[in-house]
Amino acid sequence: MDLINIKHPEEAVSFKQAVLQGLGSDQGLFFPRSITPLEDVDSLLQQSFVPRSAAILHHLLDGELDQQAVLEMAESAFDFPLPTRALSDTVSALELFHGPSLAFKDFGARFMARCLVRFRDQGPMTILTATSGDTGAAVAHAYYQQAGIKVVILYPKGRISPLQEKLFCTLGGNIRTVAVNADFDTCQALVKQSFDDPVLRRQIGLNSANSINIARLVAQACYYFEAAAQSADVSRLVFSVPSGNFGNVTAGLLARALGLPYKRLIAATNANDTVPRFLTSGRWNPHTTVATLTNAMDISNPNNFPRVLELETRHKMSLSELLSSFSLSDEDTRSAMLALWQQGYMADPHSALAWAALQSDLKDDELGCFLCTAHPAKFIEAIKDVLEMDIPLPDVLAEVQAKKILSSTIMGDFAELKSILLQE
Ligand SMILES: *Cc1c(COP(=O)(O)O)cnc(C)c1O
Repeated sequence: MDLINIKHPEEAVSFKQAVLQGLGSDQGLFFPRSITPLEDVDSLLQQSFVPRSAAILHHLLDGELDQQAVLEMAESAFDFPLPTRALSDTVSALELFHGPSLAFKDFGARFMARCLVRFRDQGPMTILTATSGDTGAAVAHAYYQQAGIKVVILYPKGRISPLQEKLFCTLGGNIRTVAVNADFDTCQALVKQSFDDPVLRRQIGLNSANSINIARLVAQACYYFEAAAQSADVSRLVFSVPSGNFGNVTAGLLARALGLPYKRLIAATNANDTVPRFLTSGRWNPHTTVATLTNAMDISNPNNFPRVLELETRHKMSLSELLSSFSLSDEDTRSAMLALWQQGYMADPHSALAWAALQSDLKDDELGCFLCTAHPAKFIEAIKDVLEMDIPLPDVLAEVQAKKILSSTIMGDFAELKSILLQE
């Protein structure tokens, strides 16, 4: 796959280079120069998830990995179920949370980890990433005990759910976790600053694993095909995606560019509404990030959005037809959780928010699919509070519950982070 740095289109790289490098110069994102649609989407939709995903990825990677290699990677990365649940004749839930960290980020993180293991040269490799919640768990589990790879994960202290923290801050070994006394955007800025430090970058073999890495996006494009395969009529299908950094939305639009003929996509945000405001006003004007019930989406400067715009400018995708975006309040989210539960479906706040956006915008002739990005048990406090009930912890969570948090804490200073990165 031939990719370019969006900020400097003359900077071209292969998929392997893009995966290893993470970001281009000036912190530019890599994105395919061109996207060739798949030839026979109908017959692909007949296949089951893993072989179909391998075919999609092989097509995208275009000769950089052979068919057998891609199949093995897909088999081991996507080794958990991916069910769709029909809530009515027209609305279904795509449950992306049955992986080891109980969140959809397992898809991208696990595929990317397998890419890095294959592509890695000799020498040190440090995965540095910022998380607003679920990336951390997905990344930690995807790389835990992978030989030669060290992982450093930053997160905003006190702003992620306690159980979520337990899920990735208790592993130890090659996984280091750092609680930053600031918001997620600060964590993200620290990561970017580290990547801008060429000495540091070389010395510890820095690589990012958050949603800016292209490997994650290509993996995530695959599950949109699964939802389409389960749908009665793809051409009427509308996706609703709970959005923070807009990686998931980018992957959905990438699936569209690859020829998946779904109708349109709704990007649902919480009160951090930079994108919905941008789509109506044309002005990019991030406000200060506010904390919400859907904390994995508490992001006011979504770092994948330039790729969405690239799809419009370079790839001629009509965003005005394909993409709409709504901001929902915590109150809307709570009502949605309750309404869903009254229909017999328990959803975490993020998934419920996507459902609410779909509910308010779905037309009579459309079919809706909302993406369920986290297992409800990961947000047990919200479930307790809103549904007023206790739910049993899934095994993975029950096990980590008793373990000790191993994170160090920093104030948000680059020097502090640097010294942690340079530690053995
Ligand atoms: C990360 C995350 C999101 C947002 O996904 P983006 O790709 O960053 O837009 C939504 N829900 C949950 C549960 C998440 O962890």
